[in-house]
Amino acid sequence: MGYFSTTKTIGILGGGQLGKMLLNTTRQWDINTHVLDPNNLAPARIGSNAFVQGDLMDYQTVIDFGEKVDILTIEIENVNAKALAYLEKKGVQVYPQAAVIEIIQNKCRQKEFYKKNSIPTAPFQLFGSKETLKDAIVRGLISFPFVWKSESMGYDGYGVKIIRSNQDLETINGGGCMAEDLVNIEKEIGVIVCRSVRGETVNYPSVEMEFHPTSNQVEYVLSPARISKTIEKKAQEIARQVSIAYRHVGLLAVELFLTKEGEIWVNEVAPRPHNSGHYSIEASYTSQFEQHIRALLNLPLGSTDNKVSGVMVNLVGAQNHQGLVHYKNMEHVLGIEGVYPHIYGKKETRPFRKMGHITIVNKNLETARKIAEQVKETIEVISI
Ligand code: ADP
Repeated sequence: MGYFSTTKTIGILGGGQLGKMLLNTTRQWDINTHVLDPNNLAPARIGSNAFVQGDLMDYQTVIDFGEKVDILTIEIENVNAKALAYLEKKGVQVYPQAAVIEIIQNKCRQKEFYKKNSIPTAPFQLFGSKETLKDAIVRGLISFPFVWKSESMGYDGYGVKIIRSNQDLETINGGGCMAEDLVNIEKEIGVIVCRSVRGETVNYPSVEMEFHPTSNQVEYVLSPARISKTIEKKAQEIARQVSIAYRHVGLLAVELFLTKEGEIWVNEVAPRPHNSGHYSIEASYTSQFEQHIRALLNLPLGSTDNKVSGVMVNLVGAQNHQGLVHYKNMEHVLGIEGVYPHIYGKKETRPFRKMGHITIVNKNLETARKIAEQVKETIEVISI
C-alpha cells in the first residue's frame, strides 16, 4: 500500500471545505497530498503538503497536476474530465473514474443513465435548447407544471426551476435541458455508498434533508432518517443498485425522493464527499472522509453505523451581510452539550454562502433536532 509516511501522493482536485475535511484523515494518517484550486486562499490550502493554484476546468493544468500524483480524486465535479481520461490512460489511478464524472457532469446524461439501467427516477423529456422545449409546450407534448433542469453546471438549485406558466420560461437559460415531472415529495433522503478499488461496498444509513424554504439549500440533515424500516430497506436497495451501475471507486452520495405514494426515486448523485454526510464525522464509527480515503487506498472499509444520532446544520451567510466574516454567538452555542462546529475558513461571507456547519449529537434524534434549531437561531454568520 505504501501511502503511510511515504512520498506516495493523493491529489485532490478542488480545495474547498470538502477537501479540507478530507485532509483531516490524510493528516491523521500521515499521507502526502497535493491540492489544486483556483483560489489561492482555498480552505484546503492549509493541511495539504503542496498547494497548486490553477483552473480545474483547464485540460493542461489538470494534466500537469495529475502527473505528479499516484491517486487522483475530486471534491468538486466541475473538473476537466477529458484530462482525467488521459491521466487514467497514463496509469494514474483516478477515483472516481473519468467515465463516472463524465456522466454526472451532465444532468441529462445522468438521467438517461438511470433509464438505461432501470433505476427508478422521475419521468422526464430531454431538449437540445429552450426553443425546442417551448415548441414541445406549444404542441402539447409537455404541460405545466414541470421542473426545468439545465443540463450542466447547476448546483444548489441554480440550474433548477419549477415552471408553472409561459412567464416562468422567460427566466431560464437557453441551453440543453430537461423537463421533469414535478414530484409529490414526502421527504428528501440520501444514502451514501462507498466502494473500494477491489469492489468492497458499504452503505451509510439513510439521512433526511430539510430545506430552507426560500434559498432551497439544505438547512438540516438528520441521521438516521425518520422513515419506516420498509422504506429504509427500499432506499438502501436502490442506492446499491445505483452504485453497481456506476462501478465507482470512493464515495457516491445518492439523493433520493420519497414520494407521497411511498416510491423511492433517484434524483441525482455526487461521486465525492457530500454535505449530507458531514454528520458522520462525529456521529458515525467511520466518517465519510476517512471512508473515501480507505476506498481509494483499497483498505478495508469501516463501519457505517451511527454511534449516536446526529443532526447537521449548515452555517450560511446571513441575507444582508457581505464582507469579512464574524460568527456571532459562537460562545453561546459551544456552551451546549454535543455541539461540534466546523468553520471552513472562508474569510468573506455573502448571503447564503456555505461558511461552515455544526453537528449536534445526542442519543435521542428528536433532542438533537431541537438543539439544532436552537443553534440555528442563536448563531449568525455576519460581516463585520
Ligand atoms: P442541484 O443539483 O442544483 O442541487 P437538484 O436536481 O438536486 O439540483 O434539485 C434541487 C432541489 O429541487 C431538490 O433538492 C428538490 O427539492 C427540488 N426538485 C428537484 N427536482 C424536482 C422534481 N422533479 N420535483 C420536485 N422537486 C424537485
